[in-house]
Amino acid sequence: MRQTFSNSDNDFGLALECPHCGSHYLHQKKVEVFQRNEDDRSGLHVSVDEKVTTDTNIADNPSPRRQGLTLHFSCEGCPTISSFSIYQHHGSTYMKFTS
Ligand SMILES: [Zn+2]
Repeated sequence: MRQTFSNSDNDFGLALECPHCGSHYLHQKKVEVFQRNEDDRSGLHVSVDEKVTTDTNIADNPSPRRQGLTLHFSCEGCPTISSFSIYQHHGSTYMKFTS
């Protein structure tokens, strides 16, 4: 699934577009942060939505070896909940929609 951005001429930067309908009216509903040392099987998982929860379950970490974060969006243009991840792998930082 490819990420696209709307054109922008202001200081806010580029608006992320919904991978399902192209709308840029995405609303952040939940943020998940995964912290671990390289290749550790457990680490710290922080989830923020209406509340904050923490645990050591990093099964949903988008990085196979290091740190990652995932933003979950609702969309004004369609009923889909999208997940966008930023994560480290082999010394580079990647970003992509995972759903
Ligand atoms: Zn949409």
